[in-house]
Amino acid sequence: MTDASRAARLMQVSADLSDDYMTVQLLAAGLARIQLDQLAAMWSTPSPSTKTVGLPPAWNAGVNRLWWRALEGGTAQLPTHMDVFGWCSRPLGQWPLALGITDSDRGLLLVEDGRPSAFADEAARFAMAKDPEAELVENHSFELLMSTADRNADREAQVQENYVELRGFLIDKPVASDLDLMALMRRFPAKNTHGQPWVKEWFLHAYQHRPASGTTELDVCDGCDNPLPGRRGHCGTPGCGGKAARRAVEAMSELYVQRRAVRRFFHDPGLAERRVFDAVRPALGERMYPWWGMDAVDVAFDFDGTGRMGEGEWWAADVKNHASATLLGRNFRWDRRAEARRRFLVIAQHRFETRGYVDDLEGAMDGRAQGVEVVGEDDFIAAVLRRASERG
Ligand SMILES: [Zn+2]
Repeated sequence: MTDASRAARLMQVSADLSDDYMTVQLLAAGLARIQLDQLAAMWSTPSPSTKTVGLPPAWNAGVNRLWWRALEGGTAQLPTHMDVFGWCSRPLGQWPLALGITDSDRGLLLVEDGRPSAFADEAARFAMAKDPEAELVENHSFELLMSTADRNADREAQVQENYVELRGFLIDKPVASDLDLMALMRRFPAKNTHGQPWVKEWFLHAYQHRPASGTTELDVCDGCDNPLPGRRGHCGTPGCGGKAARRAVEAMSELYVQRRAVRRFFHDPGLAERRVFDAVRPALGERMYPWWGMDAVDVAFDFDGTGRMGEGEWWAADVKNHASATLLGRNFRWDRRAEARRRFLVIAQHRFETRGYVDDLEGAMDGRAQGVEVVGEDDFIAAVLRRASERG
């Protein structure tokens, strides 16, 4: 093939072939769709297989893009699927095929401990958010949470209160029991057309049950409360510095553990949100609105007590804890409903302190979120407390 015809073929494959983030997102979406047991079987296969049957389309598309990239770079030997699986356990910056990614992303891995990493889940989510066919666990969980909040309210403000309570439950309880479920059903009794409480449907979607009776001792992390199977040293939750601890959970006959997608999209990012809420609540009280507007923003402050966003001095913030600054920057949007005077994109402290992270984030945002100030978690908390004391 001549260079010209090769270039023409490349254009047919994709106009954005040079965008390696798309490749990484497709691979991540593929990994997300591969069942964990399939994954384990592939890892334990002694000889690399060239068979592509059964691999998700997203994965094949990602590998395809790598092939074209390899051809484009003049590489004689194309990586096999097994090669690429192997690369997924190495930092992106160390792949044999150099990827065009920003510096702060070079240390990220798609697979950790034989499973899709938090970064892979994040990248997959951005890819699949554009795919109307994608049935995302966290999306359905979010819809059920909204329905539960809505059907158990008879006025607008109550919907928001319910939402905050249910969302807070997910952050407080990576592990729950049938006693928690019963308490939720008493608190949120509204039933769907099948006679089942909405809250039960939401709960059973967000959690997987495990048989238990009486008191069960669990190994959990004392920082984030996530279960630590096999008592490993570190918990792996982004930004968590906790350590292994024993926790007694009371149950009648069932324990419930948050599904991975729910943990990664509601519980784990919620830890940074909760740190902000806890730090400023004593100073702001009722003038703080967690997840204002059913999550239009993660938190809003009404310094003048007007009760209406846009009237008086309001601040609003999205709190983010993303592994990839570039993917966050490309996908970040400010919700137009949040017409606050000051608007913030608050970055979890451990990310904010990562070298190059903020520069890469702002580079990727490329001025699209005009008027949104990028700040670290600690600086944001200090600024809110300062403003609260100025306003008295
Ligand atoms: Zn932890």
